[in-house]
Amino acid sequence: MVKEIERNVFTFSILCVTWRLVLKCQWNPKNYDMGQNKSVIVVGGGIVGLSTAYFLQKEGHQVTVLDKSGIDAGASFVNAGYLTPSHIISLASPGMITKGLKYMFNSSSPFYMKPRLDFEFMQWAWYFKKSSTKEKVAKAMPVIRDINLLSRGLFEAIKASGDLGDFKIGDKGLLMVYQTDEARDHEMEVVQKAGELGLEGKELSMQELKTIEPNVEFNAKGAILWECDRHTTPPLIMQRMLEYLVKSGVSVHKNEAVLDMSLSAGKITEVKTDKGIYQADEIVLAAGSWTSHLAKKLNLKLPLQAGKGYRINTEANTGITMPAILMEKKIAVTPMEGFTRFAGTMEFSGINHKIRKERVEAIAKGVEYYYKGLHVSETDKNNARCGLRPVSPDGLPYIGRPKAVENLVVATGHAMMGWSLGPATGKMVTELISGNKLSMDIAPFNPERKF
Ligand SMILES: Cc1cc2nc3c(=O)[nH]c(=O)nc-3n(C[C@H](O)[C@H](O)[C@H](O)COP(=O)(O)OP(=O)(O)OC[C@H]3O[C@@H](n4cnc5c(N)ncnc54)[C@H](O)[C@@H]3O)c2cc1C
Repeated sequence: MVKEIERNVFTFSILCVTWRLVLKCQWNPKNYDMGQNKSVIVVGGGIVGLSTAYFLQKEGHQVTVLDKSGIDAGASFVNAGYLTPSHIISLASPGMITKGLKYMFNSSSPFYMKPRLDFEFMQWAWYFKKSSTKEKVAKAMPVIRDINLLSRGLFEAIKASGDLGDFKIGDKGLLMVYQTDEARDHEMEVVQKAGELGLEGKELSMQELKTIEPNVEFNAKGAILWECDRHTTPPLIMQRMLEYLVKSGVSVHKNEAVLDMSLSAGKITEVKTDKGIYQADEIVLAAGSWTSHLAKKLNLKLPLQAGKGYRINTEANTGITMPAILMEKKIAVTPMEGFTRFAGTMEFSGINHKIRKERVEAIAKGVEYYYKGLHVSETDKNNARCGLRPVSPDGLPYIGRPKAVENLVVATGHAMMGWSLGPATGKMVTELISGNKLSMDIAPFNPERKF
């Protein structure tokens, strides 16, 4: 009898321990691995933060996302939605500084650097200039291709998983529409370089352009088509991702700003917000343009500037079915699910969300100039929004662990490609935290690289 009781107590204890482990690990039969289970705080709920949370929870980690906003605006909501393997040339490329200086006093130009006496900005501009050499651009090209292709595949895998319900990934490619021979020649150079890397761009005649985009009349000389590119509807995907994460047990704290972090013996011991104090095994800084301010709290230097861009949405029937970049004006046009979006401009004026009317107007005028008969309404212009691209000096993201802080991963600096690269970044941050093999070499994204 005693033996029987002892056996039952033993069995019960084993069951209790197992159940506690199951709860602790948020057990998922597909990918359970006790050794990998960690508590992780992700600071920032943009595409990079949410993609990170997505892959972390799939691995069984306990994830908390902290975001100072309502997670319904910002760069990840206002972008053009392109997935762009074709954008192999980073922003920091030969001639960009000259363009910046030329446009410095013209606040309606597509590329604008507000003149200001700010040491960090001047240092960043110096690093940007140092990164703008032919050799450095050429070295970055295969890296940009690889991370883009990885991320495009992950977007497709997320769609195929059904986790976010149904959403579209447009696969008609991306048009580069030009009005001048100069723009055409420039893009054909990119076609040649991309061709060497296995990405195909092809020149279209005006007749072919008409066949591809029959319901609009272009005021243009021609176009180049990148079949490797895709387009999506960011606000829809962000909303679905957020819903999925909450449903999957990720703790999402909106309107909660991280103010500080405590560091002891090379480890972050506390994350302090305006509402409370948190502890976790690992911290991921994915706070977009704000990340360098947070990194400073840990005595880390992360050269980063906010590159403001604007979007105008219209629900009017534009006839547009093909995403297109209007080359001379640097405007992105995207047919999204339920509306058309016009996006553009790169404005370096610090961290602010001030809407400059002249820049919104420049986007609307540019669109009306390229698409004959198209009119952007005053209401649509008045509803324009802006977002801040986190721009590193060489245009490559920062993904990795800074040496001085053991339990920190930095994930930002994606500039014009942050939407495209969100999933790849989230996947690789998860691989770092889980101690798994990395999907690609992340050495070029070292957050402590020298410029
Ligand atoms: C007009 C425009 C068009 C673009 N088009 C494209 C495109 O077609 N394709 C493409 O690949 N990319 C595009 N981009 C770039 C892309 O949108 C960005 O690179 C990307 O969204 C950056 O994502 P993120 O998650 O790093 O940052 P964000 O989306 O900015 O998210 C950062 C989050 O961190 C939060 N945060 C900041 N500080 C704190 C704090 N202290 N505590 C808590 N939370 C904090 C913020 O509230 C924010 O929600 C475009 C950008 C713009 C502006």
